[in-house]
Amino acid sequence: MNIKPEEITSIIRSEIQRYEKKIETIDSGTIVQIGDGISRVYGLDDCMEGELLEFPNGVYGMALNLEQDNVGCVLLGPEKGIKEGDIVKRTGKIVEVPVGEALIGRVVDSLGNPIDDKGPIKSSGVREIEVPAPGVIERQSVKEPLQTGIKAIDSMIPIGKGQRELIIGDRQTGKTALALDTILNQKGKDVVCIYVAIGQKQSTVAHIVNTLTEMGAMDYTIVVASTASDTAPLQFIAPYAGCSMGEYFMNKGKDVLIIYDDLSKHAVAYRTMSLLLRRPPGREAYPGDVFFIHSRLLERAARLSEKLGGGSLTALPIIETLAGDVTAYIPTNVISITDGQIFLEAELFHGGLKPAVNAGISVSRVGGNAQIKAMKQVSGTLRLELAQYRELAAFAQFGSDLDKEAKKRLEKGKRLIEILKQDQYEPMAVEKQIMILYAGVNDHLMDIPVTRIRKFEREFLEYMDTHHRELGKSIVEIGSLTDELKSKLDESIAEFKKIFEA
Ligand code: ATP
Ligand code: MG
Repeated sequence: MNIKPEEITSIIRSEIQRYEKKIETIDSGTIVQIGDGISRVYGLDDCMEGELLEFPNGVYGMALNLEQDNVGCVLLGPEKGIKEGDIVKRTGKIVEVPVGEALIGRVVDSLGNPIDDKGPIKSSGVREIEVPAPGVIERQSVKEPLQTGIKAIDSMIPIGKGQRELIIGDRQTGKTALALDTILNQKGKDVVCIYVAIGQKQSTVAHIVNTLTEMGAMDYTIVVASTASDTAPLQFIAPYAGCSMGEYFMNKGKDVLIIYDDLSKHAVAYRTMSLLLRRPPGREAYPGDVFFIHSRLLERAARLSEKLGGGSLTALPIIETLAGDVTAYIPTNVISITDGQIFLEAELFHGGLKPAVNAGISVSRVGGNAQIKAMKQVSGTLRLELAQYRELAAFAQFGSDLDKEAKKRLEKGKRLIEILKQDQYEPMAVEKQIMILYAGVNDHLMDIPVTRIRKFEREFLEYMDTHHRELGKSIVEIGSLTDELKSKLDESIAEFKKIFEA
């Protein structure tokens, strides 16, 4: 072997150079101000935006304001015992959370720590909470339905896998109920569900976890909880943390459903943080980048291309409005980011229409492509019929004489409205929805009194389950209502009506 002295010297030289780079410089600074969950630290010259900082007592913080002579950061833990002059160390990492299958069935806080008394979590790794959204090339269009199990939604406002659909409404209008029913309906469908509670009461979160456990939905669900008693920064990072946990499964080719309940409180938490950090306030005192905190979060919902495994992340953000005002700052922002919205109205809710979906102004901009054909066939006319009914109903209130045709429309509309009513915790399989809607739009229920429609529906579906189970199966298998299926449906409806009326 021929050894060249120049080669050896160059290797030694590069080794020496690299040796110097290996020396770890522990970057640290001192606290100059602390209070309200905010701290200003002097001396962290190379600090990154969003970097995790180590405070005394094992408390962590996140660097947010990189200013000329100090770094403004938020504390992710209790500030008790931390004082001015204390040392703060850099970690060189962006805030990250544990991810993996072990999280399923667990209740965790915004940093992924278990809060459910079930012991430590053996995670498969960690993932940064802020990850850029997949680009155009990495995506494919929404084409598969995500069944919510709610008749009013699956028929008129269908949601596809990878879509972002906003649930918006006043307080106590059934927003959370809608989201929970959607989770319940994913049972046995191989969809991982994540429920992110932001700034909610602990008792509410406990109630939700209880319900999910009782209904057997925790087997495929992760709950990320930041309650009202958590600091604003913890509430702020909760949705990003939940999203990262979901992306882990999406990148493995799985389907994920994530619910952010709710983004109004998320915006408020961000406003609190920003004002304390002395960022300039804008409209409604929100900082200028409040749009971006929601757009970068919701852009992470995607359906990945086949090359990347074809996984999907469907997001259902929730927004609470005040007195139905959708033109307020945060509602308009989120409406413009999402692919459609489900409006829940207090007036309808108190009028007994539950779920209180206002079908007239609710839309789904991409879900229609995903809807199965049989559902399209029955729901095509449903929207129109309902719109005509609403118009007529307003007119009929004046007691004006209506012709026969209009009276029939009115009667039919009343029955369709009855069909769209649905109890909580009772999501319905798509074939059942199709069967009852078919009966409604094809005038099979005109001779049943309006007050008995719901009873009819329940018993009819039970009857179909016991006597014509294969019909439901064929609807799903064939995917559309063929003439043969239609005539079979007509027959069984007529058959059941005889029993029902007797
Ligand atoms: P908040 O603003 O407090 O978060 P919300 O809009 O999330 O309220 P929910 O908590 O989901 O509303 O529902 C309010 C109440 O209405 C609950 O008591 C719930 O049980 C009831 N409710 C919701 N949907 C239905 C339904 N389809 N049928 C019957 N009751 C319902
Ligand atoms: Mg709620």
